[in-house]
Amino acid sequence: MPPKRIELHGQWFRLFIPRQEIAQSVRSLSRRIEQDYAGRELTCVVILKGAFIFAADLLRQLSLPCRIEMLRAQSYGMQMTSSGTVHFEPTTVDIRGRDVLLIEDIVDTGLTLQALVHHLQSQEPASLQIATLLAKPAAQHLALPLTYVGKHIPAVFVVGYGMDYAEAGRTLPDIYALEDS
Ligand code: 5GP
Repeated sequence: MPPKRIELHGQWFRLFIPRQEIAQSVRSLSRRIEQDYAGRELTCVVILKGAFIFAADLLRQLSLPCRIEMLRAQSYGMQMTSSGTVHFEPTTVDIRGRDVLLIEDIVDTGLTLQALVHHLQSQEPASLQIATLLAKPAAQHLALPLTYVGKHIPAVFVVGYGMDYAEAGRTLPDIYALEDS
């Protein structure tokens, strides 16, 4: 049994999405993606660092030919809200003419995603869809369609399953939410 509460950098977090529930969301996303892309080759662009665990679980369940690219996006730093400034490394990935699936851990304001989609569209992929494990309510106001969402959650700050609080908590197998948020 995972602990009900954990402390990271002096902040308390409560168990929010247990691993079994995460696994169910990942499984149903992988089934949808498999159906939608049947007969095609996917190019998955994984957004580091947060999406690496989600992507590893999701992609191992897909029986589709799949190329993998990784981009590092940084927007939060030590804060718990978006700064609005997003940096990507590397600045180019090989996606011209390819069917691209962007793999993100969580969408909050969508600022990161918007910047990224703009950045990737300029490289002329054949198609570009987004898969995110979690989406917060603010994401509903996005002009971008979130085709594959594992779970809609309230506006809480979460850690675990790849997501961090100032680099702590990424390796937790379950997802925790900041208490009183
Ligand atoms: P947005 O630009 O949509 O506001 O934020 C997206 C990025 O911020 C995500 O890729 C993720 O790295 C980070 N982020 C957003 N919400 C959370 C959260 O609740 N917890 C953590 N650890 N990171 C978050």
